[in-house]
Amino acid sequence: MTKSSAGGAGGETEASPGLPAPTELSGRCVWCSRPLTAPVGRGRPRRYCRQGCRQRAYEARLRSAELDLAPDDVVVGRAQLDDLAAALYCLQSALEDVDRDLAAAGDDPAEVRLALVWLLDNARPLADLWLEPRAAGGSAPG
Ligand SMILES: [Zn+2]
Repeated sequence: MTKSSAGGAGGETEASPGLPAPTELSGRCVWCSRPLTAPVGRGRPRRYCRQGCRQRAYEARLRSAELDLAPDDVVVGRAQLDDLAAALYCLQSALEDVDRDLAAAGDDPAEVRLALVWLLDNARPLADLWLEPRAAGGSAPG
């Protein structure tokens, strides 16, 4: 027997019965992936960094059911995804450069330092990005 995936109409529930939990990173908001603050007192660990994230996750679960998507599928803007892919490509290319340069550098500290600076320069654009799912039915800023 399998449970029906319908239901979950209570906006305040942490997880809808019958739906698998979205992908969770330990200590991160289930919706926006920002770090969670430490829980106050006892009780269930927090899953969302703020009420807005809980609401957006709830709306997204409803919307994903309407659109026949997997429960943890999310919508992101094309421009945001392109920015992320470009920054990731820079980092991947820099990793290849640094692997090659370090193999050739031996123990020369100046060469190792140059490689590290190159890697940092190409990692920072990625670290400065933030990608967050688009709220269901809402207009994205920008
Ligand atoms: Zn959040």
